[in-house]
Amino acid sequence: MPGLYRLRLPLPWPGVPHCNAWAVQSGDGFVLFDTGMHDEDSLSHLERALAMCNLRLEQARLVVCTHAHTDHCGQAATIVERAGCEVWMHPNHEHLNRMIEDPDAVFARRMEVARQSGVPEEPLRRYAAERSTRGSGIAGPVEPDRDLLAGVTIMSDLGEWVVYETPGHAPSHVCIFQPERRLLISGDHLLGRISLYFDYGYSPDPVGEFSSSLEVVERLGARLCLAGHGRTFTDVHAHIRGNRTLVGERLERVLEAVSAQPLTAFEVVPHVYGTSLSQQNAHWLLSKILCYLTHLQTLGKVHRIAGEPERWSA
Ligand SMILES: [Zn+2]
Ligand SMILES: [Zn+2]
Repeated sequence: MPGLYRLRLPLPWPGVPHCNAWAVQSGDGFVLFDTGMHDEDSLSHLERALAMCNLRLEQARLVVCTHAHTDHCGQAATIVERAGCEVWMHPNHEHLNRMIEDPDAVFARRMEVARQSGVPEEPLRRYAAERSTRGSGIAGPVEPDRDLLAGVTIMSDLGEWVVYETPGHAPSHVCIFQPERRLLISGDHLLGRISLYFDYGYSPDPVGEFSSSLEVVERLGARLCLAGHGRTFTDVHAHIRGNRTLVGERLERVLEAVSAQPLTAFEVVPHVYGTSLSQQNAHWLLSKILCYLTHLQTLGKVHRIAGEPERWSA
């Protein structure tokens, strides 16, 4: 589609090799939706991708972040400085600010949650030891010039885009819809290959919020989805149904597991994913299990048994 460019940017994560930023022509420049993650080579990757579309970084007129995860806003600070443009983001990005202001505290909290969830000491020690080799993924603090709240609009040569709040994957998540062309910039809310993730600990019930957000997007009638990872896809409504089904299946498995006997979140993982935690997937899987348990608790189907570690029971 003329005036719309997919910038496919590399990521250093196992199983998630790329993320997308989307450049949409706007006058003599472009609006950039998402930025890719920050590391030592990331800016040259972004500039090379832009050059393939005959665009230069300095032509960025506005940076819009679908949510405050490093692969979607990590380079925002650099781009804003280079292009002199604004950055817009949803106000619930406290999870990102904390990581920039006090990464040690965020990491300590993550370790505490893991311990509380029944992760044994030895892998935790190894996880902590490996941490020093990982960068933060963020170029610098992001202070949004405008809050991306429901109804905010963004102008482009392809028409006006409208913001919809879609928390769940992250508390700061928004989707952005162009109604005449029925284009949806979906961030990580809808992905071509259905894959769920929820930030744990920043909102009361991320799984419940995600399910409501699926309804918000379903009502839009999008015909082409421009996702945060992978290719574009057209069967948007099948993807919404697929997400809903997968959430239902996961919740059922979690409930089954804690119905047989009280378990820690760590012990629930193999019941749901058929695999134990590894260094690579530990934070990812544990956050999701804790969010499923929290949702089941909200529904009154499980309860938390206080203790060290805490257990969950149907
Ligand atoms: Zn994300
Ligand atoms: Zn992502």
